[in-house]
Amino acid sequence: MTRYVYDFSEGNKDLKDLLGGKGANLAEMTRMGLPVPPGFTVSTEACREYLRTGKLPPGLPAEVENHLRLVQERTGKVFGDAHDPLLLSVRSGAKFSMPGMMETILDIGLNDSTVAGLARRSSDGRFAWDSYRRLIQMFGRTVMDVPAQAFDDELAALGGLEAQLSIEQLQDLVTSYQKVFHAHTGRDFPQAPHEQLFLAISAVFRSWNAERARIYRRQERIPEDLGTAVNVMAMVFGNRGADSGTGVAFTRDPATGRRGSYGDYLQNAQGEDVVAGIRNTVGLTELATIDPASHVQLLSIMERLEQRYRDLCDIEFTIENGKLWMLQTRVGKRTPAAAFVIAAQLVDEGTITLDEALQRVSGEQLAQLMFPSFDTTAAPPPLTTGVPASPGAAVGAIVFDSAAAAASAEPVILVRRETNPDDLPGMIAAQGILTSRGGKTSHAAVVARGMGKTCVCGADELTIDGGTLSVGGRTLHAGDVISIDGTTGKVYPGSVPVHPSAVVRLFEGELTAHGDPLLSAVHRLMVHAGYTARLGVHANADTAADAARARRFGATGVGLCRTEHMFLGARRQLVERLILAGDDAEREAALAALLPLQRTDFEELFAAMDGLPVTVRLIDPPLHEFLPPLEDLTARVARAEALGEDPGRDGLLLTAVRRMHEQNPMLGLRGVRLGLVIPGLFAMQVRAIAQAAAARVAAGGDPRPEIMVPLVGAVQELETVRSEAETVLAGVPGTPPIRIGTMIEVPRAALTAGEIAGAAEFFSFGTNDLTQMTWGFSRDDVEGAFFGRYLQLGVFAASPFETIDTAGVGELVRIAVERGRATRPDLTVGVCGEHGGDPASVRFFAGAGLDYVSCSPFRVPIARLEAGRAAVQASGSDSR
Ligand code: PEP
Ligand code: MG
Repeated sequence: MTRYVYDFSEGNKDLKDLLGGKGANLAEMTRMGLPVPPGFTVSTEACREYLRTGKLPPGLPAEVENHLRLVQERTGKVFGDAHDPLLLSVRSGAKFSMPGMMETILDIGLNDSTVAGLARRSSDGRFAWDSYRRLIQMFGRTVMDVPAQAFDDELAALGGLEAQLSIEQLQDLVTSYQKVFHAHTGRDFPQAPHEQLFLAISAVFRSWNAERARIYRRQERIPEDLGTAVNVMAMVFGNRGADSGTGVAFTRDPATGRRGSYGDYLQNAQGEDVVAGIRNTVGLTELATIDPASHVQLLSIMERLEQRYRDLCDIEFTIENGKLWMLQTRVGKRTPAAAFVIAAQLVDEGTITLDEALQRVSGEQLAQLMFPSFDTTAAPPPLTTGVPASPGAAVGAIVFDSAAAAASAEPVILVRRETNPDDLPGMIAAQGILTSRGGKTSHAAVVARGMGKTCVCGADELTIDGGTLSVGGRTLHAGDVISIDGTTGKVYPGSVPVHPSAVVRLFEGELTAHGDPLLSAVHRLMVHAGYTARLGVHANADTAADAARARRFGATGVGLCRTEHMFLGARRQLVERLILAGDDAEREAALAALLPLQRTDFEELFAAMDGLPVTVRLIDPPLHEFLPPLEDLTARVARAEALGEDPGRDGLLLTAVRRMHEQNPMLGLRGVRLGLVIPGLFAMQVRAIAQAAAARVAAGGDPRPEIMVPLVGAVQELETVRSEAETVLAGVPGTPPIRIGTMIEVPRAALTAGEIAGAAEFFSFGTNDLTQMTWGFSRDDVEGAFFGRYLQLGVFAASPFETIDTAGVGELVRIAVERGRATRPDLTVGVCGEHGGDPASVRFFAGAGLDYVSCSPFRVPIARLEAGRAAVQASGSDSR
């Protein structure tokens, strides 16, 4: 029979699938001999079973009872004992951390009789009755769905400040909470401790499917079917007076990576109070004064945890009457900057290898670091300064609630006293988050950091009330624009100009890494990524300036030059002449006028990428895209005719546009089809490439052009273009060798790649079109139209236009690589769709055996980092 329950002493940190992150880490700490309260973990398997059947799996209750007996033995207390009751906490703990998303229930085991026992044993009646009323409230809300407001109203009727209530008042509050409980559930608050426990375990299982948990999982791409484990642990109390308290600590600063212990402590407070940001906390260093012995013990535990986990750890602890207890640890979340800095530090400290360091950072994090920050020289005096909780520069209109943030089409800053998990949709929608309460470990801070979203919290000079924000005699309203700096904590009125990131300036060669911990770490890891990578990174660039920037950013070629971009502006006229040409002579004249312009463009591009490949794609879009829109022309011609004037050229253009009009231009006369239908068009482009290359050779350069044919679906199309191109190339003296290849962006091309490779020296996947045609999604329409709904429904976790759909489009890529290389083993294969710069997609392409990815210049460093990471992962080695 399946086993569902594990004592903390039975697990270890690698059992996250079964025990969830929290359970696995509690087990690890227990094994290390650290002071963890006794307890056990109900596995994720039990949760999946519960969610499938709606019932606790058979056998589970007996297992829980057995493990409970062990906890009783270790604590010397009995669950439900009227004299000295054992109390339990029940907490969720999924494989991936989902802060505040699921349920926790504390003080299980209290009832009308055990509360008296607790009061006597602790000699603290206030504490016992306060614990009891907390239990009824938490249990009512979580297990029985009693609205939180119903309890809050009772507390408010007593003045609202629980710390000031007398024992009698707390007893009255318990009675009124029990009435609230009965009124909303139709039953009494369960007095049997075991019933409380099993109802609480079931409620934690159900909370896996709570709306906010689902939203969080979608955002973080956590699979839906994992389920959560449940950790049941003997309660320890931080609210037992001045020698008690609760805190959160980090072994390094999660914002900057700076070495040294770091955290928040709240004296005489219970479990969740610190994370919830209820009261303002003190820094961890003050614990050294408050309770020196516990402080020393905590620091030594933190050091041991870092050594064990070989990474930054975050910790939740409680001190009960001077005794330290560890309630949780895990490898801590951190900002992108801290991720790079810590990875490099750990290498320096000899804890991890450079290969491992590469696994500790990601392209997504590097992308965050390439965001701009505020130009503070142009900023007005700040309104106030809060806690810099998650870096970045965010500008937007103030909104005071999550719904308004989610509904706004404009960039907004979500301004709240403090956030709670219900604010999640607003936090996702906002540019940044500003709160007046809570520290770096408050809900707002933890969630924002996880999302890579700018956050300033604990700006306690702000008064947020009734739809206004006031500070220093100034009042701001919803809709007023503010700027928040998550790196310094400053809050500015109005829109502050932003300036480029230091990391971008490093890549540009404008700054050196010397002396700057972040830039040195980035530089070092980028060098290592370059050393390990097997996947090349090229850039999509149409101009010499773009190519030059891409080269500074580390690109080793141009993977896509979209030549149609050279037909815009004043050159449109020449394309019009081509389209309107009445005979061969007129058409050749139009082409002859385009030739020198193209040649100059290519010469500049080849110069910028001298010595490196430049893949020039022949013209792709339908030619009518270069003509004025049908409606404009119709109106202009109608106006001229109404005035009795000759519409002239407009009349001719209108006829041409009508003739060329297509219902589905994306599936119409474009790409290779144009080349086959418009005589001389491709030949002109090939000639321009050849002449530009010959000119560069003559000037002592080393041009490496390649010619790429778009939208090929059949080898015959490519063969026709190829033989024409070869004839043209042979006719231009001094041309260096030029390879001819094709894009693979039509599903048929992928499926017939074996034949197509017979006529192609290289493939480049056009995954934009390949995604469009594989899914049948119009790439220009669907993302705004219905992708929101599709994401909500979980049809996909990310837009397939952003992140490669590995199961569908990816399968076509794999097929094409395999069939192409079977025909031509030395076939070069790359990708030049948008996916070439998407970190997750880069990892896929590396695994699919591509030679290079090509992406926009700005994303080149991101792809380079991911290429290095993918190689380390593939080799499975971390010994370097
Ligand atoms: C593609 O389809 O992926 C591609 C790179 O071509 P374009 O985006 O120009 O259609
Ligand atoms: Mg395309």
